[in-house]
Amino acid sequence: MLFTSSNSAANGAVSRLFSPLFILFFLANVSQWKCMLTVTKMAHLHELSEQQKEFQLLARKFAREEIVPAAAMYDRTGEYPFPVIKKAWELGLVNGHIPEEYGGMGLSIFDTCLITEELAFGCTGIQTAIEANSLGQMPVIIAGTDEQKKKYLGRMVEEPLMCAYCVTEPGAGSDVAGLKTKAVKMGDEYVVNGQKMWITNGGKVFPFGPHNPDPKCPAGKAFTGFIVEADTPGIQIGRKEMNMGQRCSDTRGIVFEDVRIPKENVLLTEGAGFKIAMGAFDKTRPPVAAGATGLAQRALEEATNYALERKTFGKLIAEHQAVSFMLAEMAMKVELARMAYQRSAWEVDQGRRNTYYASIAKAYAGDIANQVASDAVQVFGGNGFNSEYPVEKLMRDAKIYQIYEGTAQIQRLIVAREHLGRYKK
Ligand SMILES: Cc1cc2nc3c(=O)[nH]c(=O)nc-3n(C[C@H](O)[C@H](O)[C@H](O)COP(=O)(O)OP(=O)(O)OC[C@H]3O[C@@H](n4cnc5c(N)ncnc54)[C@H](O)[C@@H]3O)c2cc1C
Repeated sequence: MLFTSSNSAANGAVSRLFSPLFILFFLANVSQWKCMLTVTKMAHLHELSEQQKEFQLLARKFAREEIVPAAAMYDRTGEYPFPVIKKAWELGLVNGHIPEEYGGMGLSIFDTCLITEELAFGCTGIQTAIEANSLGQMPVIIAGTDEQKKKYLGRMVEEPLMCAYCVTEPGAGSDVAGLKTKAVKMGDEYVVNGQKMWITNGGKVFPFGPHNPDPKCPAGKAFTGFIVEADTPGIQIGRKEMNMGQRCSDTRGIVFEDVRIPKENVLLTEGAGFKIAMGAFDKTRPPVAAGATGLAQRALEEATNYALERKTFGKLIAEHQAVSFMLAEMAMKVELARMAYQRSAWEVDQGRRNTYYASIAKAYAGDIANQVASDAVQVFGGNGFNSEYPVEKLMRDAKIYQIYEGTAQIQRLIVAREHLGRYKK
């Protein structure tokens, strides 16, 4: 692809093909950050528009015809699913939220969530690789200058490039304020040293680096976001991690050693990074919840079809009340998770702060994806435990929805804070 990494052999073949485009980073210092939420197109909670239905159907067809047949192979090999991503990109199912003025489709968060749910039905490993682009691009969309948007978002519209969002470090995931990566301003550049971990699409692009020269500086002002090209000298991309699920999604550690970043690549201003990152989550957690819902929908459908074929004691297992009630519980959870992600997406599309709804949706959908996938394995009996059948993969893939983009516990912290904040005088 266009941007290959100049780094270590550890990058492997995958990263040579799809090196990351830019890297977001967080450093230190002051500044006022203004809420720059974009008011996107109106979404209708009561009924989807014709355009929304078209996107949904296109994504559904693509998932069933292109992703479902390939998913088991990618799960087995861990190969990066670029051929599938490229086809999705060609159909307009990737990067839909890039604004029209930068060559994108300017879809709302609600619209992109509809697409994400459908793609996740096919394989959440592939969907996560696609979704990581949104996560990496979102800070640029909400806080980038016109030049930064033209340069970086424009490139991703022209080519099927992948990018990444780098916040997590080996010693700091939930505790973002504990980030250790440092950036020091030297003339017109920043020199960055540090280490990132668990970066999705890390073999392809983006990271967040933070830095705080003054240990007393509060987190809200200590970090700065940077856009970093993946082939910048001094960036070393680690080996692909072997994960429990979503195995074709590429996750890596990244080392920064005296990486020089031009000052033009600072996002918004020094010290604005923390707020940009949190603002991005308000727009990226609804799609993560939509992904978890898509996985749960798949588990429900697989279990239902199986229950309508498998017989025990002379009747279909769906006719045993215990099994049909399990299916009913699964259906209830999927419907509620869908409503939760749609509400959170709709809120932010109205230009309203949706942190409360986004965390509810992310926590709930992540939890029920695990419950529903586990129940699907139960409905399949012994076959559910076997990799010849699709549901054991769903169970493995589901777990990460309770971990990335803020763990299930961190979402509850946020919901509690937002909830109590409404009552406190
Ligand atoms: C496959 C994968 C992909 C990822 N992709 C990315 C990516 O693209 N970019 C990126 O920046 N990061 C990424 N991450 C990192 C991910 O966001 C973190 O792993 C996650 O936020 C948790 O951080 P941690 O692993 O350091 O766990 P810790 O923060 O150490 O948490 C450990 C446990 O303690 C709990 N805990 C921690 N603090 C509290 C608290 N205050 N109250 C209650 N419970 C608490 C947590 O919920 C968790 O159960 C990815 C991770 C994985 C596994």
